[in-house]
Amino acid sequence: MKAGLFGGTFNPLHNGHIRVADHVKHQFGLDKIFFFPAATPPHKPNINLAPARDRYEMVKTTLAAIDGLDASDIEVTRDGPSFTIDTIRSFQQRHGTTHRFFLLMGSDAFFDTPSWKKKDAIFSAVPIIVMLRGTHGQHQLIASFLDEHISKGYTWYQEENRFVHDRLQPVCICPVPKIDISSTMIRHRVKQHLSIKGLVPDPVEKIISKRKLYL
Ligand code: ATP
Repeated sequence: MKAGLFGGTFNPLHNGHIRVADHVKHQFGLDKIFFFPAATPPHKPNINLAPARDRYEMVKTTLAAIDGLDASDIEVTRDGPSFTIDTIRSFQQRHGTTHRFFLLMGSDAFFDTPSWKKKDAIFSAVPIIVMLRGTHGQHQLIASFLDEHISKGYTWYQEENRFVHDRLQPVCICPVPKIDISSTMIRHRVKQHLSIKGLVPDPVEKIISKRKLYL
């Protein structure tokens, strides 16, 4: 079984997350994608962060109704900061014999990987799918990034839209539709008492309103 791993703060989960995940799932023929909300994101210390249990519940309740997208509490139940490499290893330990994993990342996260714990181990552990938002020709930028920050020796295969390395896992490019929704935008709208209907799944809207999040 081919499975995607999609991490994020999901503060809150929005329709952009669902639509890009669905797009990648079809493009790469993945059987399922696990969404795993981060408990204490090491990279975003200063945002208006809803409690992990609320963010996880938004993801779990929404994805329960969507085939092929699953919620994982792997990071929210771990103490202390969550590091992606630990999460990948836990998934591989739990499901490694039946699942082949792919790590999904937005380009913002991808270009930030040099600051991540054990980034080399991540690039050796799983193929990475970089979701590029509505843009073409960014592979040049990614080629120089890989060369400078990850390792020399990646080769670009245009037909397959991926970089291949003899020692590391492939880095695949997936252009995704441009969807102008972000969690930052949702938090701002809630704070300003503007509607978020159509921007987030219904269960997310209900949880935000009931628990008075982001006010
Ligand atoms: P914030 O606005 O708080 O930074 P976000 O909307 O980017 O949050 P995250 O939880 O950080 O949400 O997102 C997880 C991943 O989803 C990131 O890698 C990000 O690039 C990607 N992502 C988020 N929104 C979109 C979108 N509209 N289109 C494509 N990818 C997205």
